[in-house]
Formats: sequence, C-alpha cells, structure tokens
Amino acid sequence: MKTEEVEAEIEKNAIAGIKKWMDDRGQERGNHYHVSSFTYECIRKMWYEEVNTERPEIDDEGYIRMWIGTKLHETPISDVHELPLMATLGGEKPFGGTVDEIMTIDGKSIIVDKKFTGKIPLAMSENYREQVLNYAALYKINYNKYIDGVALLYVVPHINYGNSRRMKAFVEWLTPNEINMQIKKIQMMIAVLEGHLKEKTLPEKHVTWYCKYCPYKVLCDGDYRDYKEANI
Ligand code: SF4
Repeated sequence: MKTEEVEAEIEKNAIAGIKKWMDDRGQERGNHYHVSSFTYECIRKMWYEEVNTERPEIDDEGYIRMWIGTKLHETPISDVHELPLMATLGGEKPFGGTVDEIMTIDGKSIIVDKKFTGKIPLAMSENYREQVLNYAALYKINYNKYIDGVALLYVVPHINYGNSRRMKAFVEWLTPNEINMQIKKIQMMIAVLEGHLKEKTLPEKHVTWYCKYCPYKVLCDGDYRDYKEANI
C-alpha cells in the first residue's frame, strides 16, 4: 500500500469507529418536544421533526461534529451534571431536555450549557440564550424554584481564527418574571406548532445563520408545496 492509501485507510477507520460509537449510543429522541428543537425558534424545523419520522441522513462531517460535542458533554464539571427536565406545557406531548450542568457560585445557582465553537463570540449567542432560557423555564416547573442565572461556556478546539483563548463563559442573571415569560413563550410556540400539524400546513421559514447547518435545509429550500401535495 502507498503511504497516502494508508492515510486514507486510517481516516476511513476513524470515521467508521466514530459512526459505530455514535450509533451504539442510540439516537432515540423519545416522544416529547425537545429543548434543542426550540433553540432556533424555527417552527418549520420543529414541524419537520414531527412529520418526518426518519431522521435526515448524517454525513461524515456531521458525525465528527456530533462526536466532538458528545465527548465535551460527557465530562462533568459540576455536582449537577446532565440533569433531565420534562414538563407538560399545554401541548399534546411534554417538553423536555437535559441540562448540561448546574453550578452554585457565591450562593447563586446557574444553569451552564457547554458549546464547542470555532470562534468565541463577543456575547452569548441569541439562539443558545434561548436554549438556556428554556432550561430555566423547565427548571422552575420541575422544582418550583427560580434559577438565578444561565450561562454558556464556549470551548474552542484551537486558538486560530482570532481566538485568543480556548474557553469563555457568559452569564446572564434572570428575574422570576423573565422565567415566567419564557414559560408562556414555549406554550405559545407549542400551540402554533400543533396548529400547523392539525391543519396540515407548513409553517413559515425562520431564516437565521443556523439554516446552513439545519438537517432539513434541502427539504426546506425545495419545499414550496403544501403539506398534502408533499405527501409527507
Ligand atoms: S433551513 Fe432554516 S428556515 Fe428551513 S427549517 Fe431549517 S432552520 Fe427553519
């Protein structure tokens, strides 16, 4: 074998190993609405997740990205690690997700979500902020307690692309009123989603930076037909 063939073989084996490891962990999402689905505020994406029982195919890049993220999340960095939360918020199915970490610092409880990123942002990203707010809402319902704050902990694999550090946390303190408003927002989104599901209509697009990573992008770009014609 030539050297480059051996190199290609190493990469092939690595991808196969990653795929097997990820697949063995199971991709079962359970029968509830997921916090991660509500992160990007795109009701159309949620709609695709509900009507497409088959998950879109994941390419090699997607597997590698998921693998790195999974490995990051496996490492506990607080006493409350991977806390599952679930609540019924008026819809036909419960709403839930798993909090990465809850840290208590200076007497205050903070939900911390870990993110791998290519470049540390200047502030907490809006989409991820939405995700941790959803966790704060779920925490209130599950424990009848208001969390003091939410945080994102960004981790970068290397310090190129303008990164001067490998890790950066952003915290936002929350009032009980903000958490109550978030509970209402989730209830409203579930109601809109279920309305579209019942009426068999495709929700409007909510175009953001995330669209280029959305597993339903191809379907979404080409899906100008209504639900019945698309026969999904
Ligand atoms: S591509 Fe964008 S607009 Fe379309 S479903 Fe995905 S997130 Fe929504």
